[in-house]
Amino acid sequence: MVHITVIGSCSMDLVVTAERRPLAGETVIGNSFQTVPGGKGANQAVAAARLGAEVTMVGRVGDDVYGEKILENLRKNGVNIQFMMPVANCASGTAHITLAEGDNSIIFVKGANDFVTPEYLEKTEEAVTSTDIVLIQQEIPVKTVEYAAELCSRHRIPLLLNPAPARSVSGELIGRAAFITPNEHECDVLFNGMPRSEALKQFPNKLIITEGKNGARFFNGSREIVVPAFPVEAVDTTGAGDTFNAAFAVAVAEGKKMEEALRFANRAASLSVTKFGAQGGMPFREELEKHR
Ligand code: ADP
Repeated sequence: MVHITVIGSCSMDLVVTAERRPLAGETVIGNSFQTVPGGKGANQAVAAARLGAEVTMVGRVGDDVYGEKILENLRKNGVNIQFMMPVANCASGTAHITLAEGDNSIIFVKGANDFVTPEYLEKTEEAVTSTDIVLIQQEIPVKTVEYAAELCSRHRIPLLLNPAPARSVSGELIGRAAFITPNEHECDVLFNGMPRSEALKQFPNKLIITEGKNGARFFNGSREIVVPAFPVEAVDTTGAGDTFNAAFAVAVAEGKKMEEALRFANRAASLSVTKFGAQGGMPFREELEKHR
């Protein structure tokens, strides 16, 4: 069994559906309310665990009821939560989502995710130093991502940086990552609008651009290669990128070469969009093997 450490965010999504969203100062009656665990870190940890990896998550929850539910969900999915220390007198991360008029609007409150600091990583260092690969995203402070990259390079642990949500990052961070996996929009932000094929050429076998239903693209040192996604009836693409990243990390840790690892990631992510919800659609290993 391969071991993956995910350093990242977790949150509770509070989802309301209504005919329309309220104007400032107005109250409207909604149709339904649901709480769903999310956050890119937790999503990727759950996806990797379902794909058969031994997963340790490094993150923070608040000392509230959402924190308990977030931890319970991770535990239920087989994720090691030993390094998920609650922050006292702090709210867990929450995403306040309104689904109305055919679109969503979201207010994200970082809460305890802001306490995933470099100092916290120092305390949980063994989770980073004794693993096959570290998977990280950008819903935690930038300083922490940079420190994680430094730790990984010091201990020669490959780092997979999923640069989502989009922000520009230092050249040093890019240099230290083994793989970087932006979607098209994130790629444009990351490289300041540089043509994508130029960016790919600069980072052969490292930069992987995901392209939704078209799959993923990288430069292998001599030419661009597109690894296609699988044709499916897409129902909900929330969390597609999270499944892709988790599956790619599992495949790399298992020793698969680039193209084979990307096929595995595409297969998992394509399956995930056929069901509702970010975590709801994440496939288990057996389902994936069936669709070979
Ligand atoms: P993100 O979810 O981060 O925006 P993408 O939209 O690029 O990222 O999707 C990530 C991966 O999910 C793709 O590379 C592909 O494997 C899979 N995927 C996304 N949308 C579809 C789709 N409509 N059909 C099949 N696979 C999809």
